[in-house]
Order: sequence, then structure tokens, then C-alpha cells
Amino acid sequence: MSYPTLKLKPGKEGFVARKHPWIFSGAFKPTDEHVAYGALVRVTDSRDRFLALGHYANGSIRVRVLSYDDKTIDQQFWNDRLNKALQVRKTLGLVDDKTTNAFRLIHGEGDGLPGLIIDIYNQCAVIQAHSAGMEQSANQIATALEDLKDLSLTTIYYSPAHGQDSRFIKGDATSANVLENDHQFFVDWESGQKTGFFLDQRINRALLAQYSSDKEVLNCFSYSGGFSVYALKAGARLVHSVDSSAKAIGWADKNVALNNLPEDKHQGIAEDVMGYLKNCQEYDVVVLDPPAYAKHLSARHQAVQGYKRLNIAGLKKVKPGGLLFTFSCSQVVDRELFCNTIVAAAIESGRTIRVLHHLSQPPDHPVNIFHPEGSYLKGLVLHVE
Ligand code: SAH
Repeated sequence: MSYPTLKLKPGKEGFVARKHPWIFSGAFKPTDEHVAYGALVRVTDSRDRFLALGHYANGSIRVRVLSYDDKTIDQQFWNDRLNKALQVRKTLGLVDDKTTNAFRLIHGEGDGLPGLIIDIYNQCAVIQAHSAGMEQSANQIATALEDLKDLSLTTIYYSPAHGQDSRFIKGDATSANVLENDHQFFVDWESGQKTGFFLDQRINRALLAQYSSDKEVLNCFSYSGGFSVYALKAGARLVHSVDSSAKAIGWADKNVALNNLPEDKHQGIAEDVMGYLKNCQEYDVVVLDPPAYAKHLSARHQAVQGYKRLNIAGLKKVKPGGLLFTFSCSQVVDRELFCNTIVAAAIESGRTIRVLHHLSQPPDHPVNIFHPEGSYLKGLVLHVE
């Protein structure tokens, strides 16, 4: 098949040769050819030598690279990419795991498919497309998913990131009860946030459990109570889950009940976290897992100020000798900037603070080594005197 060809300006091919999967608009020579958003395009250097195939997009990231081979992006391509990703999850022990049946199958650039997320919830797959190219490939992606017999999928739900037009490609289940490290969670992909559940905190939740026995725990930005359920099951004395979404708090309560945990030890609070932190009690362990404060570079400075204020407020509520679990999932705030921001909050707090753990995302959210931006989740566990 022949795809429209876009030519790079002289001297711009080095970037593509270094295999960063994004090619920015400024790298291309102007073209007279009309190319539709989402179309597959060939990218060549200024002397017509083939470099890459990818999805064309409106915006500063003009092409997201799918392949460095000059071949057709056909059904076999999708089957191969998804199958490779599944093999990695098998290596991780996530397929046919008796205690965990929810994991990320495709993590965008990290799995060679920029713009695509696929999360598996037991026998259901939720596809999220973040680019026009992936939106237009939804049916081929679903066909490739059905080809992965190990997953025995009964439902495939597709949601484009830009809201409307979510639909079922297979089956019609809107939710499932899943297992994560033997903890049960109700996941509703039709009305939940992102694909329905935050799979990226699986390992960090297990770490919180290690420090929760007999403790008073505050879980800020709790969503459906992931951290709360782990803390309660590990024997926490009380857990307070705070989220501005009443629906999320409803799910947190539901998940506590689903695991037969003592409901009198859990309180869900639908409130703004900054407001709650003003007047609340002190806790042995405080978790701060806010949504991405910066979605774009232009918002980075403001985001940093936000993280600093949040962490100053959170540190005030940690009892002497207690712990703070603090996170940032903003891609544009890298680990160094995040750590510096926490240092600034620590100075302001006047407390003696030790770093106990550096946290990140789990291995089913892999990072393409040529795309360091893929390493988006940063966390620290601090001991606060
Ligand atoms: N820790 C969660 C994921 C957090 S996602 C987990 O492990 O599943 C971020 C959450 O913050 C969302 O549920 C969102 O509703 C909530 N949120 C966003 N802004 C908020 C605010 N100002 N106060 C309280 N909650 C907020």
C-alpha cells in the first residue's frame, strides 16, 4: 500500500534516527499534498530516503511513529504488536495470575503504539485512543485483541479520549469485579475516570499495606479507594478516603464492603483535599495522589506551585514519626523537578524528613527507552519526625 509521504527538512533526520517516537511539526518541509488527520504517512529525509511510518496528527506532535520498516500497517501488524505486548505481560507473571487479573496490556509508546492504551479487567478489555490515528484503527485493534486467545475476552469497550462516541465492539458488560493482589475492586469503565481504575498504583498500594497495621491512614485523592482497601486489609485502625467526586467515594465504600473489611473503620469523605487538610486530625500515614496538575509544558510552573502547597498541607497532618506517600503523575514534571518541589515543601514544614523509598509505575506500564517522557509516575515515601 502506498501512503502519503512527508519529507523532513535537511538535518532533522537525527531525531528520527534516535528513535524518539514523536516527530514535531517544525521538522517537516511544507507539503502541497492534503493529508487527513489520523492517516498513515511515510516519513523520509530531505533526500527521499525512508525513515519511518506513523500516524499523522494535527498539533505540534505531527507524526507518531509506528514502524521503522517500510511495510504495510495491516491486520498482521496489529496482531504482532499486541501479541508482543502480551508476551511481556506473561514474562511479568500477569497472565493467568490467581491473585491479579487486572493489568495494562498496551502502554502507548512503551509498547510501540503511541496514542494507544489498553487495560484488561478480567475478561474485559478497555481501549483508549489518544490520537486520531488510533481512533481510526479501533476495529483492527479489537480484531487483534480477539486473536489473543489467552485473554478469553468477552467484552471489548472502546473509548476515544476526547469524550463522546464510546462504544462496545464486543459484549456489553459495563463493569467487573477484578482482583489485584487478592484485593477485590469494582471497576466501572462506562462511568469511571480514565479506563475505570488506576492500575499504575498496584505496587505502591502493596507497599502502603506494609506500613498500615494498627495505623490511622489518610488517603487523599482516593478515587475508588485503592490505597484504602489495602490499608484496611493490612489492619489499619482507621482509614479516611477523601475525593472531590461523590461517585468515587461511593465506589470506595463499595470496595471496602466487597472485601469484607470493617466498615466502621472506614470513612469516605467527598470533599476538596485542600479544604479537608485545613481542619482535619493528624494521621500516622498520609497518601497524596493528586490528578496531573500539568497536562502541558505551559502549565508546569503553576503545577509545581500546586504540588508544593499540597505537600506543605499534607506534611502538617503527619504525626511525629509518621509517613507521607506523595505522588505526581504529570508527564511534564520530571522526577528531578518533583523531588526538588518536595524539598521545597520539606524546608517550609520545618520537620526532619528522611526519604525511605523512590516509587514509580509498575512494569506493565513500560517505558520505551528512547521516550523518557513515558516515565510519568513519580513518588516518594517520607519519614517525618
Ligand atoms: N489514588 C487513586 C487515584 C487518584 S486519581 C487510586 O489509587 O485509584 C485522582 C483523583 O483525584 C480523582 O478521583 C479525582 O476525582 C480526585 N480529585 C481531583 N481534584 C481533587 C480535589 N481538588 N480534591 C479532592 N479530590 C480531587
